[in-house]
Amino acid sequence: MFETVLYETPAPRVARIVLNRPASRNAQDTKLLYELNAAFDMAAKDDEISVVILSANGPHFSSGHDLREADPIGALADHDTVGTWCGFTCAGAEGWMAREKELYQGLSERWRNLPKPTIAQVHGKCIAGGLMLIWPCDLIVASEDATFADNTVSMGMTGVEYFGHPWELGPRKAKEMLFTSDFMSAQEAHRLHMINHVVSAETLESFTLALASRIAEKPLFALKLAKESVNAAEDAQGRISAMQTAFAYHQLGHSHNMQVHGMPIDPRGTGGLVAAKA
Ligand code: ZN
Repeated sequence: MFETVLYETPAPRVARIVLNRPASRNAQDTKLLYELNAAFDMAAKDDEISVVILSANGPHFSSGHDLREADPIGALADHDTVGTWCGFTCAGAEGWMAREKELYQGLSERWRNLPKPTIAQVHGKCIAGGLMLIWPCDLIVASEDATFADNTVSMGMTGVEYFGHPWELGPRKAKEMLFTSDFMSAQEAHRLHMINHVVSAETLESFTLALASRIAEKPLFALKLAKESVNAAEDAQGRISAMQTAFAYHQLGHSHNMQVHGMPIDPRGTGGLVAAKA
């Protein structure tokens, strides 16, 4: 059905979407993001599904955006876009912002507003763009080995495009995560209420599936309304306008790096990856 994700129904009324690019540590290229979006849509449109799990194959949940993608702009032409901004091939900041507004901010916000409960099942490393897959989910279950980082400040950026840090971690820990680029343990993320449960690697899948199955027994419309009510509380606190401000600063960062380094990110923070490619 898909090439980069798997779609499974492991229990009654439960769908499970599995990131399936283990060789690249589930790096997110354009194809994976649109296939993931299509899989979420499939679960949303199926009235027999109440809860959606997002998990990953391989040693790590996700290494973030695929910085090795050969033609990230051209790849958009292969997919039906979900937003109306368009203009991906425009020169300079216009085209770059259009791509990120569609592919990163747009898709993550879309998944956050999926009407059915979603549960991220996380193991191994979850880096930068990886956070943009788990933060839009309603619940997060992590194994004891899971670690989380946003290293984009090291690349001359503000943080990932879906700027959930202050809401997920509180302002001080959000700043520490951003300022240091350090990994945060599952235990620390649990203490900060970023994740719901930390379990052993051996029980991660069974624990998450049992949780999903218990939720799936509830009336679906009540689940939808409960989700919308909590999301509305976050939005009443200014989440959307704060994220839009952060997204604008993020685009300023890309433009600055283009002027100074000739590429959208500071190559000194990429471990030589982009510099080697360039
Ligand atoms: Zn960006």
